[in-house]
Amino acid sequence: MKTAEERRSQLETRRAELIERMEAVEAELETHNTRDWEDAATEREQDEVLEGMGLSAQAEVVRIDAALDRIASGEYGHCAVCGTRISEERLDLLPFTPFCRNCAR
Ligand SMILES: [Zn+2]
Repeated sequence: MKTAEERRSQLETRRAELIERMEAVEAELETHNTRDWEDAATEREQDEVLEGMGLSAQAEVVRIDAALDRIASGEYGHCAVCGTRISEERLDLLPFTPFCRNCAR
């Protein structure tokens, strides 16, 4: 079983990766300002994909921040709904989840 400290560093590593990805997405979006119509259409499509990536990264950062708060307050690892201990397997897969398997559905 992992300690809260191990979970915290796992979450912080993941958070840093996501921030890096969001910055890369922003940088890429900023290079898209061509005046050529054909290129502009292709870039718009790419922009949508990139924005989607940025948004999902952002949403995960929010969940990670909430999980870090729960670690700080000692609530981490327990379901926010029923209070049951969340299984290690589930936390390995979704380290930021505040719900046990039953309550997530
Ligand atoms: Zn639950």
